[in-house]
Amino acid sequence: MPETLQETISDECKDVLLHVWDYLDAQLTPDATDALRAHIAVCPPCLQYQEFQEEYMRAMRASRAKKGASWFLKARVLDELFDSGYAP
Ligand SMILES: [Zn+2]
Repeated sequence: MPETLQETISDECKDVLLHVWDYLDAQLTPDATDALRAHIAVCPPCLQYQEFQEEYMRAMRASRAKKGASWFLKARVLDELFDSGYAP
């Protein structure tokens, strides 16, 4: 039984751990993207890790978008109040 994570993890898995954000952001070179994609396709733990990070990234973007929407909505509501003659 290996004592550290270092011993259990392959170089390909390490690449996924280190570069998954760049991979999801499409910041890697085409060669590096292909290499990561090929490894993720055959390595269930890396696929799980990639899906988790992707989900996290999506949630972050969604929460940012929601804040933008509520700000926009607030401005529109205020605008309509002004148009209808309301003055605070
Ligand atoms: Zn892996």
